[in-house]
Amino acid sequence: MATHYRTCPFCEATCGLEIETDEREVVSVRGDEADVFSRGFICPKAYGIKQLHEDPDRLTAPLVRRDGELVEATWGEAFEEIDRRLSPILAEHGRNAVGVYLGNPNAHSLPFVLYGPAWLRMLGSQNIFSASTVDQMPKQVSVGAMFGTMLSVPIPDVDRCEHLLLLGANPLVSNGSLLTAPDMRGRLRGIRERGGKVVVVDPRRTRTAEEADEHHFIRPGADALLLAAIACTLVEEGLEAPGKLAAHTNGLAEVRALVREFTPEAVAGACGIDAAEIRRMARELAAAERAAVYARIGTCTQEFGTLASWLVDVLNVLTGNLDREGGAMFTLAAAGQRNSSGATGSGKGVRFGRWASRVRGLPEAFGELPVAVLAEEIETPGEGQIRALVTVAGNPLISTPNSGRLARAVEGLDFMLAVDIYVNETTRHADVILPAPEPLEKPHYDLALYQLAARNVANYSPPVLDPTLPPEWHTFLRLAGVVTGQGPNADVEALDSMVIQTLVQRELGNPDSRVAGREPAELLEALEPRRGPERILDLMIRVGPYGDGFGADPDGLTLDVLEQHPHGIDLGPLEPRLPDMLRTPSGKIELAPEAIVADLERLRAALRRAHNGGMVLIGRRQLRSNNSWMHNLPALVKGKDPCTLHVHPDDAARLGLTDRGRALVRSAAGEVEAPVEVTDGIMPGVVSIPHGWGHDEEGVRMGVASTHAGVNSNLLADESQVDPLSGNAVLNGIPVEVAAAPGAEPAEPAAAAAG
Ligand code: SF4
Repeated sequence: MATHYRTCPFCEATCGLEIETDEREVVSVRGDEADVFSRGFICPKAYGIKQLHEDPDRLTAPLVRRDGELVEATWGEAFEEIDRRLSPILAEHGRNAVGVYLGNPNAHSLPFVLYGPAWLRMLGSQNIFSASTVDQMPKQVSVGAMFGTMLSVPIPDVDRCEHLLLLGANPLVSNGSLLTAPDMRGRLRGIRERGGKVVVVDPRRTRTAEEADEHHFIRPGADALLLAAIACTLVEEGLEAPGKLAAHTNGLAEVRALVREFTPEAVAGACGIDAAEIRRMARELAAAERAAVYARIGTCTQEFGTLASWLVDVLNVLTGNLDREGGAMFTLAAAGQRNSSGATGSGKGVRFGRWASRVRGLPEAFGELPVAVLAEEIETPGEGQIRALVTVAGNPLISTPNSGRLARAVEGLDFMLAVDIYVNETTRHADVILPAPEPLEKPHYDLALYQLAARNVANYSPPVLDPTLPPEWHTFLRLAGVVTGQGPNADVEALDSMVIQTLVQRELGNPDSRVAGREPAELLEALEPRRGPERILDLMIRVGPYGDGFGADPDGLTLDVLEQHPHGIDLGPLEPRLPDMLRTPSGKIELAPEAIVADLERLRAALRRAHNGGMVLIGRRQLRSNNSWMHNLPALVKGKDPCTLHVHPDDAARLGLTDRGRALVRSAAGEVEAPVEVTDGIMPGVVSIPHGWGHDEEGVRMGVASTHAGVNSNLLADESQVDPLSGNAVLNGIPVEVAAAPGAEPAEPAAAAAG
């Protein structure tokens, strides 16, 4: 028997696991009591690491389509097929003829985070899509414009906060999102035990809301109006106090003027919250010594996603809570983006819209296009049409809006390649599937998420099991070989050498770097004999803010040091980082970015919009589910059907729906039939279906998921509806008609469709 300590790779919380193995058998999975961050906390998904290891449906060899069937092939055969099919498309139709979709698990994959970008650069396509535009892109756009980089996200300092206002976030179930902090229940309870207050705003009374001091239902899509009204109250009543932030902020006066029209009285109807309540929320926020406003997916996946995300940080600035202990702070990670290095504060900032989607003209953000345009980019003939699609750990036929249209579109592709562990609803269409190693066979370091942590921590996990598959970084480098014309058998060692040399040269060429002026050979020698992700990670840690600077600080961090600390290293609480962390060209917080201010016109128009009384659909997060990909693990799907339509009792009565009956839900994009769960935990006029389900498609090879199929809520999402600045799909607040399904038992009064 052997005991291993490892960070859980399944969500942003980065919990420490204690895993016992006997040879290749995983005997037990527990929380690691000695983990410096999670202190033994885990959620039910942690056990999934054992069940994923044992899952007979997990792919263990490449699949290649022969005579219409996906059959096992060798790696050599699979790469030959990729080269045979993909290279002519690139040669004949150019780089943009290949689209790429990246799923959410990539954010937790060290090999992908470090090698995926290199492969994408070599591919050179502008048709890059990811789960970001059905999730958090609005927040990244707003913080990019305000602070200068996509990861300059203020994190609520939950362990010292005394007043936390949460919107569209359910951290008790999500375990934190753009907020890495294991055991959010314990941390939120800590706020209340310190005499503080937790306030939740959400169209559902979520588990987080149940634990909070106060919960307000809000109409889906109205968060930006509420936030603007809170800002207005602060300004009107002289409650704003940016303090030291004023010296580091451009646009304060403009924002003060802009929010004045959004009075609580003006927005109350649209929000469904009394004006007096909004004013009280504002006053309490202003009065709290240490407060933070935090908003997540519910505020991003709506028509005013970027405005709402921006207004969250406007409030953090107006109340003086940005960059203050107990407020909203910036993590200083051991490795990551330049803004984590602690170097002096200004930079290039961000530019959006460097190119646009071909058909609808939607702008790129951070190098990717909105996934809401993927189907039309495949369907529409002409130069730049997507003819081949590569998906990596993604299931866009379940996860993206109007997935019914996308399912039809991919049928017309000339070639499709997937890097995935399953034959799922998307990869069943692929011509080649390259399996990725299971988490236990990979090194792990949550490079992206530690940059969003509520405490500065670092934890590296070596692989637990010997590999049975080629490492993922080999796969990406071989794909890089194909797209650069080196054929199916590119020299992986040589490509890896090129990658590390490029990174070393970039570091040495940065005047802010701790190693500027040193010789490349000196650094490369010090990184020996590591290869692959560990070599790059070691470089990043050593030049990072806690690193040894390649010998400059003998007590500094290296990957060797992290390996000697299997429970992680605590690098301390968040510290004020302004103005050094700013990367805007001005070196200031841009509180009134031009594009965001211009978008306020849409919000004004929304105030004038009459509510038509119709029903709207929202999603919901589930503790045992992680988007679409963990539904084949028996422990996570056992028990009662989680994929139900939540409907308020008043609406159920009006619409003739009964608890455990069935409802037909129709939108502009499609229709689904779902089991009904009547609950007063949802706002009247709103219904909810969790996303990520719908596993009953032909050709899916996920035995457990297929018997717990659920319905695909994204068949209802309308791909024409996006937040214009970020391109993020509007998944919350979808207009729907709801009625009892034909043949379902009608309740009293008789069934009637909502208008
Ligand atoms: S909260 Fe997230 S990181 Fe922690 S055990 Fe659950 S899935 Fe893993």
